[in-house]
Amino acid sequence: MKLRGKNVIVTGASSGIGQAIAIRFAQEGANVAINYRSEREQAEATQTQIAAAASGTGSRDIIVQADITKEDEIREMFRKVIEEFGSVDVLVNNAGIQKACPSHEIDIADFDRVLSVNLRGAFLCAREALRHFLARGGGGVILNNSSVHEIIPKPKYLPYSISKGGMENLTRSLALEYAGQGIRVNAVGPGAVVTPINQAWIDNPQAKAQVESHIPMGRAARAEEIAAVFAFLASDDASYITGQTIFACGGLTLYPEFRVAWSSGE
Ligand code: NAD
Repeated sequence: MKLRGKNVIVTGASSGIGQAIAIRFAQEGANVAINYRSEREQAEATQTQIAAAASGTGSRDIIVQADITKEDEIREMFRKVIEEFGSVDVLVNNAGIQKACPSHEIDIADFDRVLSVNLRGAFLCAREALRHFLARGGGGVILNNSSVHEIIPKPKYLPYSISKGGMENLTRSLALEYAGQGIRVNAVGPGAVVTPINQAWIDNPQAKAQVESHIPMGRAARAEEIAAVFAFLASDDASYITGQTIFACGGLTLYPEFRVAWSSGE
C-alpha cells in the first residue's frame, strides 16, 4: 500500500497502460480519477476491475471525462477531482495516440493531432497540476508516459517520435523548474506493450513474433509491468528521483543489433 490516501488523476485510463495504472494505484491504496475522452463504457470497465482488484484497500475512484487537448475540459476535470477528493497529489499523463505514415506524406492535421494529445495535452495537464500544487503547497508528483521513442527514432511515425522526444525535455525542464517546491516530475519509457495501440500486431502471431524478435528479453510487456514502474515513481520510495525517464523496455534501448558482435571482426 505504497500510495495509501494519495489522490491521483490518470489520463486515458479507459484502456491499455492507463487502465493498468489506475488498477495498480488503487491496489496501492490511492484514490483514483479515471479520465477518459469518449469511451465512457471502457472507463466503467476500469472502475469494475478496480472494484474487483482493490476491494478492502479503502481506495475511492471516480470517472472524469475530459479531452486533454482542451484547456477548459482539463480545468473542469481538476475542479471535479478536487471537489471529490479534496486535492490532487499525483498526475499521470498517460493518454497518447499515434498514426503511421511516411514522413513526406503526413497530413499536417494528423501531425498536429498527435502533438496536440501527446505533448501539448501532457503539458496542459501538467500546468493545471502545477498551479494546484503551488497553490496548496506541499509538493506533488507528475508522471509522463513516454516511450523508448523518446530516444530511439521511429521512422513512419514522425509526430509520435517527436512528441516523445519533446516529452523528455518537458519532464526534465519541469523537474528542474519546480524541484525547489517539492514537485517531482519523471517519466516511464515503455518498449512494446500488449495494448490496443498495438492492435496491428498483438492478435497476429506472426507479426507479434516479428516484433518480439527485436526485443532482447524476447517478449512484449504486459501493461501491469509498466504500471508497476509508475507506482514506484509515484510513491515516496522515489522521493529523491526527479527529471528521469525509467525505460521499462526489455532491453530495447540497449542497441539490440549488438546482441551479437558484428562490427569488429573475430
Ligand atoms: P491505448 O490506445 O490503449 O491508450 C491510449 C489512451 O489515451 C486511450 O484510453 C485513449 O482514449 C486515450 N486518449 C487518446 N486521446 C485522448 C484525449 N485527447 N484525451 C483523453 N484521452 C485520450 O494505448 P496504450 O498503449 O495504453 O498507450 C498509453 C500510453 O503509453 C501512450 O502515451 C503511449 O504512447 C504510451 N506507450 C505505449 C506503448 C505500447 O507499446 N503500448 C509503448 C510506449 C509508450
